This record gives sequence, structure tokens and C-alpha cells, in this order.
Amino acid sequence: MTDYRCTICGEKAVGCQVYGCSGSYVCLLHADAHLLNLKPGERKEWGACYFLRFLESDTDE
Ligand SMILES: [Zn+2]
Repeated sequence: MTDYRCTICGEKAVGCQVYGCSGSYVCLLHADAHLLNLKPGERKEWGACYFLRFLESDTDE
């Protein structure tokens, strides 16, 4: 399993955000509202931005 980490704080990432040509992984705290509105596994293009919500993991850390 690949384990993504928040680019900002290093916590477990819940999705990724791409603004133009720069992308980052984000945790719940640092995720954009658009990303948080997505269901797990859903993706959304928002103008020049792109949001992808990761599927929830069943495993407890
Ligand atoms: Zn974070």
C-alpha cells in the first residue's frame, strides 16, 4: 500500500490538490474545502485546479 503524507505537515494525506502545474498532498486540516466536499475516490476539476480525494483506508494505524 502506498501511504501519502501531507506536503505541508506530514500527516496522513486524504487527497491531492493541483493548482496549475504545482500539486501537493494534503491532510484533513490542510485540504481545500472543494476537496473535502468530494466523496472518497471522487475527483473534480475546478478551473485550473484539480482535486482528488483518496479512498478511505480500512486499516487503522
Ligand atoms: Zn497537513
